[in-house]
Amino acid sequence: AAKNGGKGRFRFYDCMLYETIQNRLDTEQELMRAIRDDQFLIHYQPRVHAQSGKLLGAEALIRWQHPQRGLIQPADFIALAEETGMIGQIGDIVVDKVCAQMTDWRSQGLDVVPISVNISARQFADNKVRHAIAAGLEKYALPSSLLEIELTESAMMRGDGDLFDEIAGLSGMGIGIHIDDFGTGYSSLSQLQRMDTDVLKVDRTFTSQLGCGKEGERFFTAIVSMAKALGMRVVAEGVETAEQLSILRTLTCDEIQGFFIAHPLPADEMRELMRQPHLFA
Ligand code: C2E
Ligand code: MG
Ligand code: MG
Ligand code: MG
Repeated sequence: AAKNGGKGRFRFYDCMLYETIQNRLDTEQELMRAIRDDQFLIHYQPRVHAQSGKLLGAEALIRWQHPQRGLIQPADFIALAEETGMIGQIGDIVVDKVCAQMTDWRSQGLDVVPISVNISARQFADNKVRHAIAAGLEKYALPSSLLEIELTESAMMRGDGDLFDEIAGLSGMGIGIHIDDFGTGYSSLSQLQRMDTDVLKVDRTFTSQLGCGKEGERFFTAIVSMAKALGMRVVAEGVETAEQLSILRTLTCDEIQGFFIAHPLPADEMRELMRQPHLFA
């Protein structure tokens, strides 16, 4: 009986495995179609000056408008795009869409703030990030000061010589370099210095600890003083409460981002925010 039961379980698992592989293949096919049929769109999340609430920039966050499944978040497709290498093409699409959007806003007479684009480690493997960004700036005749890149601390850690060359090249072009999810990886000061990093974006797990004892505050205090000494700015991500904002102001954190200020917004809502340059007083 035990043997039979075992067999049954095997068949059950086989079935599950098959289903998973099939799903993956389906999603892969659908991702290819999404690229072909232009199903991606960009939402923009504002970043503001902590003391004044002035709008300083926004982060481009990709969404997939699936014809049947609705709006799909990056958590559900970016990993697969990275594994299959499709992230290269998707990354180019993001850069192009962001540049096109800024051009549109500029043509409406808006004072456009710099937009940061997330770049996966895998995108640097092809050594094409610099090319895609240069192409976008040239195609739309935009100054490089309007584009910034976000690279996670763990992606930076995996980086080889090429990654450093690419980052140095981008930095030389005037593209701001932001280290995303800072505090969750293991970067060294020498790496930060070598890459000419402009901004440390402290991961939201640290922001969420603010107001729950002194430990979280000590972490931010240390990051702020280190960043200042190295000539970098500090952004706190994931700010969700007035208390977190108030603590971050006391700790002289430079900039903030999070649901308390604004969620990632469709382009037309982001445009309205650019008309009122202070999001809070
Ligand atoms: P990330 O770059 O660290 O982006 C921040 C994520 O946190 C976003 O999720 C944002 O919606 C969310 N967030 C912002 N404020 C708050 C807050 O106050 N509370 C909470 N709980 N969450 C907040 P999203 O848009 O789902 O993106 C997830 C991740 O997907 C991003 O993390 C980034 O690593 C990746 N991603 C997004 N767009 C792109 C892209 O165009 N290219 C690549 N390569 N990766 C992307
Ligand atoms: Mg980011
Ligand atoms: Mg982040
Ligand atoms: Mg993050």
